[in-house]
Amino acid sequence: MQNEAIAERQEIRVGGLPIGGEQVVVMAGPCAIESFDQLVSLGKQLREMGVSILRGSAYKPRTSPYSFQGFGKEALKWHSEAKKEHGLLIETEVLDTRDVELVAEHVDLLRIGMRNMQNFALLKEVAGCKKPVILKRHISATLEEWLLSAEYLMAYGNSQVILCERGIRTFETTTRSTLDLGTMVAARLGSQLPLIVDPSHAAGKRELVAPLSKAAIAAGADGLLIEVHECPSEAVCDGRQALLPSDMEVLIPQLASVATAVGRWL
Ligand code: PEP
Ligand code: MN
Repeated sequence: MQNEAIAERQEIRVGGLPIGGEQVVVMAGPCAIESFDQLVSLGKQLREMGVSILRGSAYKPRTSPYSFQGFGKEALKWHSEAKKEHGLLIETEVLDTRDVELVAEHVDLLRIGMRNMQNFALLKEVAGCKKPVILKRHISATLEEWLLSAEYLMAYGNSQVILCERGIRTFETTTRSTLDLGTMVAARLGSQLPLIVDPSHAAGKRELVAPLSKAAIAAGADGLLIEVHECPSEAVCDGRQALLPSDMEVLIPQLASVATAVGRWL
């Protein structure tokens, strides 16, 4: 059953998959792409569970220049090659205007990370590539600033925008960021665009990811972006917040129940 609020929303398509409709879409995968085999193995397991899109970053924006920066072009190739094996749609972050064309050739869905939400040159370049794009909210952005950045993408030619709430910077240090579901709900009321939630970067801790995921769907999110790793202790980045595939197996049926409770399905 589709309620009125949902019926008014703009649906976008990633491959053939509608986002922003009745279905709640789960995107999951490693923070950073570490190998071809990692993508094939994780992709196959996640597909079995009902995940639709495999996330994974080839280029990593790191706070420290000494942290792992991503395997770059090589990882992009692994991502598109692995797709033939696991059959999921794939997404990745684009960091640099010079990489937009190459990244768009390799994946179904681009991601503009929170640090680049107001990189206007990048927004314009991504607007030109015509691939659907996730626009993350910056940790210090107001709703208005976030929506204006989405407006850049649309004004320059790309209406296939998915907003992503991923937590903001507050005085609280227990969590990596503070998941701002209040503003997420306001964003749904103030914009037609599909809206997903990234509980992983908001939480920074594995044990918080499942409850935040359920809360996000209950509050009306159109999808989730969740970090998953087969061996979090060996992950090159963000292992502390990564769920195990076995955690996902438990979580997904619970998410489906929450979705049903709010008139959606997963
Ligand atoms: C990510 O999703 O890989 C990421 C770097 O997140 P954010 O841009 O929200 O920090
Ligand atoms: Mn990460």
